Amino acid sequence: MQQFLNIVNGETLANGSGRWIDSEDPFTGKVWSQIPQGTTQDAEAAIAAAFDAGSSGPWASMTPTVRGKLLHRLADLIERDAEKLATLEVRDNGKLRAEMLGQVRYLPEYYRYFGGLADKIEGGVLPSDKPDMFTYTRHEPLGVVVCITPWNSPLLLLTWKLAALLAAGNTAVIKPSEFTSASTLAFVALFKEAGFPNGVVNTVTGYGHEIGAALTEHPKVAKVAFTGGDATGKAVYQAAAKGMKHVSLELGGKSPNIIFDDANLDDAVKGAISGIFAASGQSCIAGSRLLVQRSIYKEVAQRVTEFAATAQLGNPMDEATQVGPITTRPQRQKVLEYIAVAKDEGATCLLGGKVPDRADLADGWFVEPTIFGDVTNAMRIAQEEVFGPVLSIIPFEDEEDAIRIANDTIYGLAAGIWTGSIRRAFKMSNALRAGTVWVNTYRAVSFMAPFGGYKQSGLGRENGQDAIYEFLQTKCVWINLAEGVPNPFVLR
Ligand code: NAD
Repeated sequence: MQQFLNIVNGETLANGSGRWIDSEDPFTGKVWSQIPQGTTQDAEAAIAAAFDAGSSGPWASMTPTVRGKLLHRLADLIERDAEKLATLEVRDNGKLRAEMLGQVRYLPEYYRYFGGLADKIEGGVLPSDKPDMFTYTRHEPLGVVVCITPWNSPLLLLTWKLAALLAAGNTAVIKPSEFTSASTLAFVALFKEAGFPNGVVNTVTGYGHEIGAALTEHPKVAKVAFTGGDATGKAVYQAAAKGMKHVSLELGGKSPNIIFDDANLDDAVKGAISGIFAASGQSCIAGSRLLVQRSIYKEVAQRVTEFAATAQLGNPMDEATQVGPITTRPQRQKVLEYIAVAKDEGATCLLGGKVPDRADLADGWFVEPTIFGDVTNAMRIAQEEVFGPVLSIIPFEDEEDAIRIANDTIYGLAAGIWTGSIRRAFKMSNALRAGTVWVNTYRAVSFMAPFGGYKQSGLGRENGQDAIYEFLQTKCVWINLAEGVPNPFVLR
């Protein structure tokens, strides 16, 4: 049994509570490792370490150029340990090794991108309208940033916060999901080797309502950068408001993947599959609503169903596997409940809809790839995030109808459009209320591409050059060049 420990102030922290949280392997259903059930004292220690590291000492006085070099060194170490880190993620979350290894191998690019950006953030000298003043701006770090992450892609979603916040000169306390903390703890051990000063990056594992809440409310925390479900996101937002903290929220989605009758249907069918069955649908950007123009509705529904029926369920470690288990036991239960809801609502089950009846999968938390046809957008299955391999197919008439249906949800994270018309691609991209729109592709992300939600899918953007400003605050400095101070009772 492997046990992982937290890292606070550059050292492993003994498990103060003496209580461990079991981490179960979603494929075998068996406990494979343990993480500490952190305490509020652990949270206190982690915040004190981060606060001190950001206030004085080597990190506080480090030039941005040197910070950038440290991020480059970290990137090299991730490259070296990619196989090991990816394996830990698969044991914890059951997603395909091919997917997790691809993600971990891509992480260094984020650290290099933001490492390069660190010393290119410039203040400005203002063309002041007051000739006896010299006025300039500086961009300064916020302070301690708490990063709270979910279980679906632990290191990728952490990196989307960490690379930018460190480049900006902040310090971090990380609270990974209690279901998938192992890879984060192994990853944070690399910071010391990369040469980061103690206390710059710290971890506290544990339950959200205990540790996540304690960190969010702590008065020394300047910002909470959160990825997770929308109900939790709202609770974090409210708690952070009490201390007037900065907040960024990356939440859920019910993203429309829209196929027009002028699309290349071979590509569109693959795009529909990739949108919902990759990662067993456990992706915030899952294209869980497939909107299909009525003239091709029957053909597309049939082709998507036939393609999905060929998906190989199996051990996520095997290269041949295409669909792995659901990450957590409660999440599988939730997916099965939504399938029951869709059936009750009158949607037609075209594929799957149950736990697979296979002896070799019996220990894992599998759900068959499931497709519902004849879904209307008012149904719960079309409105609520399932976070599993469940696709709803919804017919539409024309562009206006597609826009109306696509935007008729509380979410706005992502959208896909499949069309052969450039005019239509532009028109639809402009009209869709979503932070990311893909045309004739789906599920692409990059360190240089801003990512975030419209509406209740979140606040703020991660990745891309502007993301660094989410972790900076602007100071304006006024220097008086005049002799003496004029009338003190009048605004200058
Ligand atoms: P979750 O909201 O249950 O948990 C997320 C994190 O919040 C965990 O670390 C948890 O311990 C912590 N937490 C729970 N209660 C808390 C509290 N009161 N205060 C502070 N922290 C608390 O989400 P999950 O089930 O782990 O992840 C799935 C969700 O994440 C889905 O809704 C999905 O759409 C969303 N997600 C969004 C994105 C994105 O970038 N938009 C990416 C991945 C996942």
